[in-house]
Amino acid sequence: MKVYNTLTRKKEEFIPITQGEVKMYVCGPTVYNFFHIGNGRTFIVFDTIRRYFEYRGYKVKFVQNFTDVDDKLIKKANEENITLRQIGDKYISEYYKDADGLNIKRATVNPRATEYIDEIIKFVEELIQKGFAYEVDGDVYFSTKNFTTYGKLSGQNLDDLQAGARISVDERKKDSMDFAIWKAKKEGEPGWKCPWGEGRPGWHIECSCMAKNILGDTIDIHAGGSDLVFPHHENEIAQSEALTGKTFANYWMHSAFVNINNEKMSKSLNNFFTAREILERYDADVIRFLMLSGHYRVQLNFSEDLLDSAKASVERLYNAVSNLENLLEESSVEEINDQEEKYIALLDVYRKRYIDKMDDDFNTADAISVLFDLVKDINTNISVDSSKKAIQGALDIIRELGDPLGILQKSTKGSIEEEIEKLIEDRQQARKNRDFALADKIRDDLKDRGIVLEDTPQGVRWKKIN
Ligand code: AMP
Ligand code: ZN
Repeated sequence: MKVYNTLTRKKEEFIPITQGEVKMYVCGPTVYNFFHIGNGRTFIVFDTIRRYFEYRGYKVKFVQNFTDVDDKLIKKANEENITLRQIGDKYISEYYKDADGLNIKRATVNPRATEYIDEIIKFVEELIQKGFAYEVDGDVYFSTKNFTTYGKLSGQNLDDLQAGARISVDERKKDSMDFAIWKAKKEGEPGWKCPWGEGRPGWHIECSCMAKNILGDTIDIHAGGSDLVFPHHENEIAQSEALTGKTFANYWMHSAFVNINNEKMSKSLNNFFTAREILERYDADVIRFLMLSGHYRVQLNFSEDLLDSAKASVERLYNAVSNLENLLEESSVEEINDQEEKYIALLDVYRKRYIDKMDDDFNTADAISVLFDLVKDINTNISVDSSKKAIQGALDIIRELGDPLGILQKSTKGSIEEEIEKLIEDRQQARKNRDFALADKIRDDLKDRGIVLEDTPQGVRWKKIN
């Protein structure tokens, strides 16, 4: 498998630290609000990558943190007059609602920064002891000058960075690029007791610390949105590698932004749609399809039109699923014949093509094209004369290849039944309103679909006729 590594700017063969295992850390949300569809893309992309590793037989240890202490959370807690813990609890539970709604698998561990305070303090202390950090009035800064490879992830050199940052030099820092790893408590802020008084961790240190404590000194993949390359991930590398003297992560992966009118979707620009509002109008399959229909390293300009065309595409795929599910009920041929056996085996060509695409740095866009080719082939070759086993085989491969993308796992059966029940209710309502023309139209439309209604003393019943 090939993975594009931001650190080397190359696609590299993926070689895990432990054979058959992937240790993966993805920077998660700051939990002070609902997440938007831009964050959603990053979560969907790395969920898909995790699923694909699992599909290829790896055991994935997937860690995604919750940042539950920072300026924005503190502000919100003060505004709402509740504790930091309560704000965190609230938006973590809202995160799960939306992430589950988007069919994002639960992480192996979702650590919260505030639950790692002791470990973070220890991390900071050790950095000070090793000469990589220094304390000023209760704040602790990382000394970038002492970490000679600072800038390697974002491809920048420290001197240039220093020059660029001169304007905003903080007098208390030794060098302008030094960054806070611990912040002294200010009036009205929460704080934890520490050797430097009272304070709270900086954002970068929490990820370094939780990744180390849960996954170990060196991990396989560290990931997040591309806005995190600098300074967040650059700083994480500096802290972790300064502490352990070992490589922090072997592969750095970054997903491109979701834009809106060619500008990054973000909370601060107020140009976002929450995942929740989009989920109210579109199915998870549609949203995931849209997010995966382009390569994860290419920006996506979000629009309603794109969502609608994703919806039409997903419908085409589900029509094939629905057709196969119906054929499975209708077929009376129990035994698979040799020719069918061969046909099902031939579908393996599509599986191989799909794997080829996904093995090439998770090219979901091309993998989706393979899915369409597969479905087209199945539509022309499987019919009511096919055996149940052949139909099931065709259905299985569609579902198998849909699974890493987190799509096509639903049965169309349930939804058709729900749809019929809904139409029956509409017809009852029309009758109550004495709109008999509409009531008759609904009944006739259903009849055209092979559904007949019977009015019984227990209410309306329906059955399928052939
Ligand atoms: P945040 O809650 O802002 O810390 O972001 C959570 C995750 O979403 C991080 O990995 C960010 O890099 C990512 N992210 C933020 N904005 C966008 C965007 N517009 N498009 C894609 N990913 C984003
Ligand atoms: Zn992080």
